[in-house]
Amino acid sequence: MLARIDDAAALAGCSAAVAQILRVPERVVEVAVPVRLDSGEVQVFTGWRVHHNIARGPAKGGIRFHPSVDADEVKALAAEMTLKTAVVEIPFGGGKGGVCCDPAQLSEGELERLTRRYAYEIASMLGPDRDVPAPDVNTDQRVMAWVLDTVDMLHGRALPAVVTGKPLAVGGMRLHTGATSSGVVRCIRAAFSALELELPGARVVVQGFGKVGAPLAFLLSSAGMRVVAVEDVGGAVYNPGGLDVGGLADHAQRTGSVGGFEGGSPLAAGGLWSVPSEVAVPAALGGAIDAATAAILSATVVVEAANGPTTPEADVVLEQRGVTVVPDILANAGGVTASYFEWAQSRQGYPWDDDVVARRLGQSMDAAFATVWERARRLGVPMRRAAAAVAVERLALAIEARGLFP
Ligand code: NAD
Repeated sequence: MLARIDDAAALAGCSAAVAQILRVPERVVEVAVPVRLDSGEVQVFTGWRVHHNIARGPAKGGIRFHPSVDADEVKALAAEMTLKTAVVEIPFGGGKGGVCCDPAQLSEGELERLTRRYAYEIASMLGPDRDVPAPDVNTDQRVMAWVLDTVDMLHGRALPAVVTGKPLAVGGMRLHTGATSSGVVRCIRAAFSALELELPGARVVVQGFGKVGAPLAFLLSSAGMRVVAVEDVGGAVYNPGGLDVGGLADHAQRTGSVGGFEGGSPLAAGGLWSVPSEVAVPAALGGAIDAATAAILSATVVVEAANGPTTPEADVVLEQRGVTVVPDILANAGGVTASYFEWAQSRQGYPWDDDVVARRLGQSMDAAFATVWERARRLGVPMRRAAAAVAVERLALAIEARGLFP
């Protein structure tokens, strides 16, 4: 992340002061989260909340519950949010939070107690004008409702704009679910148009069939593309004519995985990326495309729905091979853009019609893509570096306009 910031600052021609400011998170808080387990014993977890930068607006970023969460990861993810909100030009900075825990080992009651105690411990950092969390890995609408309720109880008033990705019943937004996938589709359309490729009939491989991958596969096949292979943690399936995505979703719902779907043939582990295709969408884990995978990848366009799916070594290989990579801070920014719309509605106390949300989301993604594409062409660099340069340039304008306090 630090190397990316330095590179982006150099590409954007920013002052050394701006790069220095962006290299250090503004605020890092580490908290103890003691939880009484159902057994009666007490377990103390560790949590973090980081404000990386708030020059362009309140900190924005998810809360992650995972055994691998640590301070460095949360800091890097918070910095990534600063870049992402700047790329799509929404009035937020970057933040992130996490608790080192394995939610699969916790009962619902334990998870609620953990969430509420963590929210209490970081509550002084949160607020509609301060820091607005959202769901991330292993957190969902339910967790957001507990965070919202804890903050409201502490303040003795309703603050619906303090979280996004909340349930509809407490001011959530219908189109929040699926917004990341819609944004990815928008980027695929824009990339095809810019590269003068034919969209109908084009073949796509998708890794991950979860909150992002499953709706994405639906949207892509509705757009006339052929989803030829899908992989999740339980297996992978391939059909050169295009998978029946509805049938695949039913199968995954029933069995817990896309593996074993009868509408295609099974793929061996690691076989997904070499399946003949025009587009590859990693929508699962970070680090999924390493240098070896990049060397055998069939697609000419990679659209990063996941965060950090391509290693820096793989980036070099993909660039040498002429593969266009639409980077995560642009490709999956539909989610945070929808969060911005939810926040705006919660502050207004006035819900927007679904078609207004969908139209604004599309416009925002198209504008961001066009800006990054143009910058990449102008600088002669891959879209990842161009996206970071666009973001850092916007951050520099905000940082310089504000000046240095005191
Ligand atoms: P999810 O947990 O709902 O789904 C993850 C999917 O990845 C599942 O289908 C799982 O089986 C699959 N997977 C896990 N390990 C795998 C492996 N080793 N090989 C193949 N598949 C594997 O998560 P999600 O919300 O869909 O998020 C997916 C990615 O998108 C993450 O990187 C996340 O950070 C990123 N992202 C999500 C959103 C969002 O709105 N949910 C927004 C921005 C970025």
